Amino acid sequence: MKKHNYSAGPCILPQEVFEQLAKAILNFNGMDLSILEISHRSAAFVSVMEEARALVLELLGLEGKGYQALFLHGGASLEFLMVPYNLMRENGKATYLDTGTWASGAIKEAKHFGETIVVASSKADNYNHIPKNYEVPTDANYFHCTSNNTIFGTQMKSFPELNIPIVCDMSSDIFSRSLDFSKFDLIYAGAQKNMGPAGVTLVVVKEEILGKTGKHIPSMLDYQQHIAKESMYNTPPVFPIYASLLTLQWLKKQGGIKAIEKINEAKANLLYTEIDRNPLFRGTAVTEDRSIMNATFVLNDEGHAETFDKLWKAAGISGLTGHRSVGGYRASMYNALPLESVQVLVGVMKELENKI
Ligand code: PMP
Repeated sequence: MKKHNYSAGPCILPQEVFEQLAKAILNFNGMDLSILEISHRSAAFVSVMEEARALVLELLGLEGKGYQALFLHGGASLEFLMVPYNLMRENGKATYLDTGTWASGAIKEAKHFGETIVVASSKADNYNHIPKNYEVPTDANYFHCTSNNTIFGTQMKSFPELNIPIVCDMSSDIFSRSLDFSKFDLIYAGAQKNMGPAGVTLVVVKEEILGKTGKHIPSMLDYQQHIAKESMYNTPPVFPIYASLLTLQWLKKQGGIKAIEKINEAKANLLYTEIDRNPLFRGTAVTEDRSIMNATFVLNDEGHAETFDKLWKAAGISGLTGHRSVGGYRASMYNALPLESVQVLVGVMKELENKI
């Protein structure tokens, strides 16, 4: 039987996608060729790319609104520098909200390009909340934030209204909840949570914000070059892109973001209710900022860890160990994780309480 997979990423994807992928490795589209051995310029793959790029915009409600979807290499980490490369002007400045390890990774890269203002940070509290009531200078080239903090289990529930471009790292909650995505000018996400396997990064960018830096941008790092080449400036990562297309098709079949959001909320409510009720556990993120994707929690008495670990492993749960910077446990409940997996985890938490 398959494990209940709480891995933070790479992570669970829909089982039917794994089955379709297995077939495509042996015989793609009835071509008697593997998806791994055909040209990225073949009609079959070009149509995968076109459909995937269009479906991203459709699911996010951004069709016909001046956005382009790109599938790039280099992970979300490369976007940490592509964003300032493409948006920070000569003698310009950028603003960042520091909500965790990944946000501070993005800040570190931006500093190589120019003045980088951190408008607020929750670092002093080990990133257990999202800073509020900060001011963003209106003369900055853009504002950057991280919608969901994978490691610390916090999530932005609202975003500032600004008259400068808003850039958002949505690596760990893209396609999981409804937002007005047109409020963002650039969204990026490593695929390996809600979209596909590692190896491809999604960038959704409003074209009108590009081409304004007055600087030369190396071709591979230039969003405009990738747009001009329809996301095939060089050989794209064909397999992760195909896997992403299948996952997005699966999401559409579920009813899209609105439908999956309801399920994601039900899963998160079930788990957080138990974390709050069960006297053996406590959550590590402040309640109002808790993530519906990554729930972080600890045992009040570490002495129960051995028993708890044995119980969840015996129940077929995998990937529950917390990140070293928070400790305890992290339950990542991405789109493909079924509600039943959360029921099993909650059952194990109750079982621990009954044993002690
Ligand atoms: N941003 C966030 C929110 C992440 O969770 C991660 C990795 N899990 C990254 C950025 C870095 O992504 P990558 O490993 O694809 O570079």
